[in-house]
Amino acid sequence: MIRRARGRPRACPEPLALRRAQGERRRGLRYAGLVGALVICSAAQAPPPPDTILVNGHVVTVDARFSIAQAIAITGGRFTAVGTDAAIKKLAGPKTATIDLRGQTVIPGLADGHLHDAGGGPGVDLSRARSIAEVVAAIAARVRASRPGDIIVSNSDWHEAQLREHRLPYRKDLDPVSPDNPVVLVRGGHEYILNSAALKNWNITRDTPQVAGGRITRDANGELNGELVDRAKSLVQLPPTPRLTIEALQQQHRTLNAAGLTSIRYPGASVEQYRLLQDMARRGLLTIRISQLLRFGADSGDAMRRAIAASDITPDEGDEWVRIGGVKLGVDGGFEGGWMREPYAEPWGERGTFRGVNTMKQAAYTDVVKELNRLGWRVATHAVGDAAIDEVLAAYEAAHAERSIAGRRWTIEHGFIPQADQFARMKALDLVISAQNHLYLAGPSLVSYWGAKRAAWTTPMRAYLDHGFVVAGGTDSAVVPYPPLWVIYHFVTRDTISGGVLGADQAISRKEALQVETINNAYLTFEERVKGSIELGKLADLVVLPEDILTCPPKNIAQMTVAMTMVGGRMVYQRP
Ligand SMILES: [Zn+2]
Repeated sequence: MIRRARGRPRACPEPLALRRAQGERRRGLRYAGLVGALVICSAAQAPPPPDTILVNGHVVTVDARFSIAQAIAITGGRFTAVGTDAAIKKLAGPKTATIDLRGQTVIPGLADGHLHDAGGGPGVDLSRARSIAEVVAAIAARVRASRPGDIIVSNSDWHEAQLREHRLPYRKDLDPVSPDNPVVLVRGGHEYILNSAALKNWNITRDTPQVAGGRITRDANGELNGELVDRAKSLVQLPPTPRLTIEALQQQHRTLNAAGLTSIRYPGASVEQYRLLQDMARRGLLTIRISQLLRFGADSGDAMRRAIAASDITPDEGDEWVRIGGVKLGVDGGFEGGWMREPYAEPWGERGTFRGVNTMKQAAYTDVVKELNRLGWRVATHAVGDAAIDEVLAAYEAAHAERSIAGRRWTIEHGFIPQADQFARMKALDLVISAQNHLYLAGPSLVSYWGAKRAAWTTPMRAYLDHGFVVAGGTDSAVVPYPPLWVIYHFVTRDTISGGVLGADQAISRKEALQVETINNAYLTFEERVKGSIELGKLADLVVLPEDILTCPPKNIAQMTVAMTMVGGRMVYQRP
């Protein structure tokens, strides 16, 4: 049995064949029309032999039927045949390269729908610390290597849930090892922790007023503990980070390729970064496909319109390498600032008064959303708590009333705590959910912030899928580590790094998790016709795994290492 694309005469432009499939495809699950469409394009002349064939494998295509094949042919960077070993081997010509998979499993290239970067950087690395003492030791080592007064900053890719104590290091932990050097621990995207020298350096005292959309936290005695949340971070001006370079991006992309990633979506980056990525694409330096959401610091519709005009970027512009995916907005904080209908668990709830942080008020946010809709842009909004989702829905509904957003795949990013009454409204707007595995890393912290019930509901994958949403998976790296196999492991087990299983009823099947990490991400970026599964005519992005991800013991999903990654038929990673 073989499904194979015939040679493509010049008169039959590729988009025709691919466009045919579009109508058939709904919810990232069905598009049976592709094979037939390609056959219509068949020409009299024999097709050229493939550039590469991969044989003797277990190919999990993630097509509509979840077909399994043995072998694949790749020509011109696309899949041109999928079938049995015998049939695919017959296609080989003298110049065809043959890869013997020796029984290994092939899946479509994995995607991350919400990835800021791969972590790392020049700050103090806390990603491997497993206790407060290890955090303090890492800072002490940097202090010894610095001059008095130098500002010491950490990288952001760590979380207190990874520490034995399950709590943040505070000012009082940091002061003994750094009495004279200001220390700023950057934790994820929403939080700084300062030592006393840093508080002094930026004149932050007990009398400093709270910052709107942010929070200066205190300990049980009313003293500053050094923690600044969300917009309170603006009280601190960190030394400029080194300029992003092509070399740094290449290094980052190679790291991601080694984990099996072939597509990523940058959720809110600068125009400057976009231009850099376009330059890389032109020079053939990209090894990963990119969708970028733009982020502008605009607080009104007018300001947004001006910022977009100045950027000279149009909605959804781009190609299969670098594409614009809309504008990113945000209305609440993260783990410790997600905006909730009900107060946080005590003591975080501050006697029932703290419900999280609303970083952009309804009126301004709605104004911006409506303007983006008028200008034809797609909107992706960071919303963690149920109150944040309320604000998003109110604004999206207001925009939708002016001009329908159905079919335009606007998103909620994260969507940790949707409530029963919100699903139907989300559905009416035809939203796509961009969900991540934050719980895997932060489980124990979320239990202490929000209580066991809300933590166990956090990112209810089962409920989203059962309500018929397309859910695209990712990590929010560097907030959560980037490996996509960890995402699949967490989504199918609901296991966490240090807190056991949380919310087992929200587990999804392995097939669903694979769709979430492949074809659904392609849907998120309007690219399900060209990538996200191993099917004729699609971009030849794939990952080779040592074990069958559909049947291996669950633990192995998180522990196995990628054997090979291909993007557009080109090998971008091979395990040494
Ligand atoms: Zn994020």
